[in-house]
Amino acid sequence: MKKFNFYSGPAILPPTVFEQAAKAVLELDNIGLSLIEISHRSKEFTAIVEEAQQLVRELTGLGDDYKILFMQGGATMQFCTIPYNMLDTNETAAYIEMGSWSKKAIKEAKLFGNVNVLASSADKNFSYIPKGYSIPADAKYFHITTNETIHGNQLQTIPDSPVPLIADMSSDIFSRVLDWNKFDMIYAGAQKNLGTSGATLVIMKESLLGKVKRPVPTMLDYRSHIKDNSLHNTPSTFAIYVCMLTLRWLRDQGGIAPMEKRNRAKAGLLYAEIERNTLFEANVAAEDRSMMNVTWIMHDKSLEESFGQFAKDNGCIGIKGHRSVGGFRASIYNAMPDEGVAKLVSVMQEFESKHAQ
Ligand SMILES: *Cc1c(COP(=O)(O)O)cnc(C)c1O
Repeated sequence: MKKFNFYSGPAILPPTVFEQAAKAVLELDNIGLSLIEISHRSKEFTAIVEEAQQLVRELTGLGDDYKILFMQGGATMQFCTIPYNMLDTNETAAYIEMGSWSKKAIKEAKLFGNVNVLASSADKNFSYIPKGYSIPADAKYFHITTNETIHGNQLQTIPDSPVPLIADMSSDIFSRVLDWNKFDMIYAGAQKNLGTSGATLVIMKESLLGKVKRPVPTMLDYRSHIKDNSLHNTPSTFAIYVCMLTLRWLRDQGGIAPMEKRNRAKAGLLYAEIERNTLFEANVAAEDRSMMNVTWIMHDKSLEESFGQFAKDNGCIGIKGHRSVGGFRASIYNAMPDEGVAKLVSVMQEFESKHAQ
């Protein structure tokens, strides 16, 4: 039976990416060597990095004032690397808190300077996005999380910021059309919507850098990675290759706009079933629901385990909600085919017909 992977990350990738990545591990493009044994400084590998960067430019239309880097340490490492490079002890950065990931980013920033949490939805376990705050013009930067992977909420509009705007886009990067020039920095762990674990995409304006007084260790200084074009030390060559393949696939699908259209349709189908089905209930405010990570709960908690098992038995893998939220979550990233969502919907309907009173 064909199984559909709804895990949040590492996550589903397009079948062609799996095939090409597997082939390249055996032999890269008929060069007589495996992708994972060649030097990161070889012409073959530098061409891979450059193609990945070029594809990011092509998909976003961003110009040369933005640097495109592949770093390590995941999005989590960015939580501390950003304030390390950009926030002095006596300065203040603005954050909004709308889920577990933004909360972690805030915790790290506090190690380096002052943090002004402009708004939070912690009062209702992040089931909505806080609104109606204003961004102070003297903040060093404003940090947002465009999609909260665990809680299933997503910023529907990107705020206009009077200060540099930095976004953790780990779980919804390249899933929808955005005004990319609104951002001064975007980062994303690759393993949600972009590739496999081990690489972190960073898109940033160099003008953000070189302003703090503290010394920054070479490896944590973005300028080292810019200077050496993501090859300062040995990067995760395999992970970067998989990102490049996924970016190629995205381009071949027509780019971000058609992908957004499909993503809207997939999410619409699933939310409609959650609303219709008598056993389930959506747990995020309607206007703030994520198109990538769809979360819901069951009216009758005693049925949760058997629904989870039923979904698994029917080829829908990884729909258990995060332990901090409970219920269920289906991650339906770019690579999730329409059939995967249709399958999950039919599993929900079948379960209802067995259990509804
Ligand atoms: C998964 C995730 C992270 C953490 O990513 P790592 O690459 O595991 O460090 C951070 N932010 C968001 C929004 C995520 O979804």
